[in-house]
Amino acid sequence: MEILERIDYLKNEINKSNYEYYVNENPYLTDFEYDKLFAELKELEEKYPMFKTSDSPTQRVGSVSEKFFPHKHKYRLYSLDNSYNSEDLEKWYERVCKEYGRELELVCELKIDGLAIALTYENGVFVRGVTRGDGITGEDITQNLKTIKAIPLKLFEPKNLEVRGEIYMPKSSFEKLNQEAIQNGDKVFANPRNAASGSLRQLDSTITAKRDLSMFTYTAIFEDDADKSFKTHYDSIHELKELGFKVNPNIRLVKNIKEVIDYLHEWDSKRFDLDYATDGVVIKVNDIAIQKDLGFTARAPKWATAFKFPPEEVKTRLLDIELNTGKTGVVTPVAVLEPVQLAGSTVSRASLHNFDEIKRLDVRIGDEVLIMKAAEIIPKVIKVVENSNHAILPEYIPPTRCPACGSELVEKDGQVGLYCSNPDCESLMCAKIEYWASKEAMDIDKVGPSVIRQLYDKKMISNPVDLYKLLPQDLMMLDLIQEKSASNIYMSIQESKTRPLNRLVTALGIRHVGKETADILTNEYPSLDELKNATLDQLSQIEGIGDIIAKSIYDYFHDENNLKLLEELKNLGINPISKAKPKSDKLAGKIFVLTGTLEHMTRDEASDLIKSHGGKTSSSVSKKTDYVLAGANAGSKLDKAQNLGVIILTEDDFLEMIK
Ligand code: NAD
Repeated sequence: MEILERIDYLKNEINKSNYEYYVNENPYLTDFEYDKLFAELKELEEKYPMFKTSDSPTQRVGSVSEKFFPHKHKYRLYSLDNSYNSEDLEKWYERVCKEYGRELELVCELKIDGLAIALTYENGVFVRGVTRGDGITGEDITQNLKTIKAIPLKLFEPKNLEVRGEIYMPKSSFEKLNQEAIQNGDKVFANPRNAASGSLRQLDSTITAKRDLSMFTYTAIFEDDADKSFKTHYDSIHELKELGFKVNPNIRLVKNIKEVIDYLHEWDSKRFDLDYATDGVVIKVNDIAIQKDLGFTARAPKWATAFKFPPEEVKTRLLDIELNTGKTGVVTPVAVLEPVQLAGSTVSRASLHNFDEIKRLDVRIGDEVLIMKAAEIIPKVIKVVENSNHAILPEYIPPTRCPACGSELVEKDGQVGLYCSNPDCESLMCAKIEYWASKEAMDIDKVGPSVIRQLYDKKMISNPVDLYKLLPQDLMMLDLIQEKSASNIYMSIQESKTRPLNRLVTALGIRHVGKETADILTNEYPSLDELKNATLDQLSQIEGIGDIIAKSIYDYFHDENNLKLLEELKNLGINPISKAKPKSDKLAGKIFVLTGTLEHMTRDEASDLIKSHGGKTSSSVSKKTDYVLAGANAGSKLDKAQNLGVIILTEDDFLEMIK
């Protein structure tokens, strides 16, 4: 009876976490904790087969939500069996080799921590993209997938095939997305996988388009007779590359299990240098005939297995909870920890996200906590380690006053977190000025947080506009600033006055308006005055601007303080006109590919020129390409253009076209 109870408990727990993971993108267990429960359930079911039921999570893959139209897969998608130790791997290899009486060649691939997807191509044209779902039925997310540049819309050859791959979000983009979410009080994703899944399963594909997603392709099912003859997985991967798919460059063909172990050792540390999250290595039998022969269990192929890297988790003590007020006024709690080694670096701070998270974890100052590097990036507190001390420690009470200015903290409708109610709060103002000067906004060299804080504390600036009123002698009053660097800082501030309109709009720090939205806005409105006068209706009709963003922009330009700031900017001569409005429509609808070194301009400048005349650029040559602009030492793109009969232009031809 106890066994059955345990099995029921495990099934419930796994089903619950599946739902949170696959449908809500909000896991409450770490993958390691989940995999431990899963392995225990599998072991109990093997030992007591009479308790194994067909609805057990061990007999199925993933989960389907009802957010999109369901689509039944033509070919079933499976999961992978996994293990955290190399002995299991050796046993698996022994088992498969035994049937054939010899060592089998294997392929090692990094296991990309993203979201599995199946793409269908008919005559080389991308027609449908579906999530894995439960392996039998997935969600049709074709429109969203079309926004991902790594997915070719047309292949180099008119083939019929289905490919599978992993959609992922680069670590750097994930980090940026979460930073913005924290600043805006929006939902924070637990790891890049959840961020990729959340971004992809958006009902509005313009949101997906703004997220930096990519895809590695790792399997294909070729449907044309001539192609069915691929003998090995390794060869078929090379074919995928030839057809225009992005394939992971670290795939390796190996002769035996020893070489697999070498690969694991190599990537155990090297994976931290990659800009995408990997949670292990997938090992596949290379010979396709043997793959077919070995077949599948209810849930996974028998010819492949995954080795998972053990989690990077350590215990340490929570010494304090530090509070920071960001540029939107949101107050963020940060865990101050007893320094500890984690994934190759010393960690003394970790994210706690927001006060709801502190409450959920019931974490108290003085507690022993478990921290991990969420998908190897931002250290995060996962839970309190059970300890007798916990009960006698006082519960954490969220602040009621801003840690910077002492004003009352308030909640905002529909947003997570507590906000400072004082629009002139010093911390909020400093964060706003820091953002103004940052690389992605006005890019003011040498004006970082410490210079800004000093200027603010000395009452020399109280908003971004004040930066432009500073003289070199004012800057000399800062600590550790010599005459030369004061003059350099002055020069960089002055130089930033000429930044283009899209950067200025980014720098304003309008809620929900980052660099990409600023680009969209300045394509529509070539000056701040025109943008300022746009009606709510006009703003929400712009492609890529939803109602919430439109309202936020409209409100910004109807706030008295903001209008005063814009007027001051204008008086200081900061009033750029967007170059993005087409100079002409001579190249309207034409697609260009650039290759080689141009003589009179860089490729970026040429690309800007093409866009300013209504044309578009693409990174690869296909039948859709209208022109290839070729400079000196042009590479394979030129050969491809010649093969496809695409018109090739010299730089002079191009300049003549737009004259
Ligand atoms: P999985 O992620 O362990 O392995 C299968 C998947 O690996 C494939 O579907 C494919 O998407 C992916 N993959 C990446 N690179 C690949 C490559 N080169 N070749 C082939 N496949 C590749 O299995 P799963 O079924 O997607 O998910 C189960 C796992 O998800 C669990 O083991 C656990 O780690 C995690 N999970 C966690 C929770 C949680 O609450 N934390 C809940 C559910 C699942």
